[in-house]
Formats: sequence, structure tokens, C-alpha cells
Amino acid sequence: MTDATVSILACDLCGTTSARTLYGDLHDTALKGDGVFAMVQCAHCGLVRLDPRPDAASLADHYPHEYVPYQKSNRLIRMLKRRQWARTEAILRRSAGGVGSVFEIGCARGEFLEFLKSRGWRTAGLEMDPVSAEAARAEGADVRADTFESAEFASNERFDCVVLSYVLEHLPSPLAALTKIHGMLREGGIAVISVPNYESWDRRAFGRFWHGFDVPRHLHIFSEMTLRAYAAKTGFSTEHMRYGTVPNDWIGGMSRIARERGKVRLAGFLTYKNPLLAAVCFPLSLAASALGASSRFTFFLRKRSVISGV
Ligand SMILES: [Zn+2]
Repeated sequence: MTDATVSILACDLCGTTSARTLYGDLHDTALKGDGVFAMVQCAHCGLVRLDPRPDAASLADHYPHEYVPYQKSNRLIRMLKRRQWARTEAILRRSAGGVGSVFEIGCARGEFLEFLKSRGWRTAGLEMDPVSAEAARAEGADVRADTFESAEFASNERFDCVVLSYVLEHLPSPLAALTKIHGMLREGGIAVISVPNYESWDRRAFGRFWHGFDVPRHLHIFSEMTLRAYAAKTGFSTEHMRYGTVPNDWIGGMSRIARERGKVRLAGFLTYKNPLLAAVCFPLSLAASALGASSRFTFFLRKRSVISGV
């Protein structure tokens, strides 16, 4: 594994070079990868970014196949996901004016695409992990293996919807990605984007241990303000927003602190399978969601025909 890093000279959103360091010594605690990383915040627009970050050549080394999103979900997780998917699909159908074509960027094993297909959508996707892309194809999904940066789309290929579920934070330039997505959508099409929320209660509670940093895979961390600014700049209007309710994030934060402090037995107790913990954390996540302070949110962005260039 290489661990070369590069420093980012300017903010992807506003181009400002001045930034303040939030945390200067973050490690890959989730997958125990090499390297020391820092999260900095743009002094002008508030966008949080990993800086320095792995260079393009070594980025893929930080996505081993055991990375959780590439694994097949167990029954409990699938049940929780289906609940979220059903809500997302209902909003998507309403926004798009019925079922149509949907393209998912970073679709892993294609579980969400399979769900959408069962609801009548025409589906296709892209996944950079070749093993996951192959697993999706084995289930009958139309999935190509490539990174979004290098994937090419025919100029007559236009989708009603494009979905990125916890993907935008992994991309080197969200500005370039959203501009490309704008080009993939039909006029009035919808982009559905789920990302971690920097302005969440659990980020404030866990600080450097917050799961949303997930260095060095998360290259940008968004707030409602910065994601809305991205949308406006790339030709989208924010049609709808939804704050997620995921008690796992609270439990995951506690578990991460325990692991970092060497309390392995305690960390084993801190899992979402512990009913007592789930009972405590679930109301907390409901309250955070109701007050717009949960750790994950989903934006439904509508393509505008005229880019304002804000
Ligand atoms: Zn900025």
C-alpha cells in the first residue's frame, strides 16, 4: 500500500485558499489503514475537507473489499434500509411525476437499484469496486465497473433521476461531479444525494471520533448551507430535504471511542444489536432528525435549465 498524500490548494466550492485546521492527526480507525490525515474548514464558505489527502494513485488502496458498503447486508440492516428506500422512492416518484429511469452512482452490490426495479423503475448504475459490480450484475442489474470521474455517458443518455447514496463525500471534486450529474439528467430531472451532516448533534458530541469523518475515504463533509450552495452553483434547486434517523451512528461513535482507548470488551458491548442501547439511542436520533440535527441527510435537487453561476 502506498501512502502518498497531496495538499489541496483551494476550496472546491468557493476557490478560497485560506482554511483552519479542525483536527490535524486523524487516523483510519475504521479499516486501520496507513497515514495521518487532517480535516480543515474553508475560512470563507465553511466547507470541510480532508487536506492533505491520499493522491489519486493511492486512493483506491483505502477501499479494500472488506469495506462495509461492499458487503451484503444482513436481514436486520436490509429491513432498516428497505424502510428508508421506501420513503426515498415515494418522494422520488412524486418529484419525478411517476416512475422512470434512474441511474445510481456508487451502487455497490445494487441493492437499492434492485428495490427500485421491483417498484417499476428502469435502473442502471456504476460501481468502482469490480467485485461488487460483478455481484450486482449476477443479480441481474445493469451495472458497469468504473469511477465516476472516468465514466463516460453518451450525450443522448438522459435520466429522470440520478442517485448518490453516501458517495458525494468520497469524490475528489463535488463541483465537477454535480456539474456532470446536471448533464446526465433530463430537464427538470431529480438528483437524490445523501451525505453525512457536519452540523449534527453527534458530530458535536463525538468530535474527532465522529463516524462522518471516516478518513481518508471522506474527502468533503457538507452542511445544509454548503450543499445548498453547491446545488445553486451547479444548476439545481433544492426541492426537498430529509434528515435521517439512524441510531447506529450514536452507537458507532461510542464504540469508536472505546476502541481508540483500548477498551475492546466495552466496544463489543456497544453494538446496534444491543437492545438496551438501541432503546436509548433511537429516541435521540428521532429528536435530532425532527430538529434538523441528525448525522445524515438527503437532498432532492431539481435540475434547472439555467445555471445561475452563484
Ligand atoms: Zn470555500
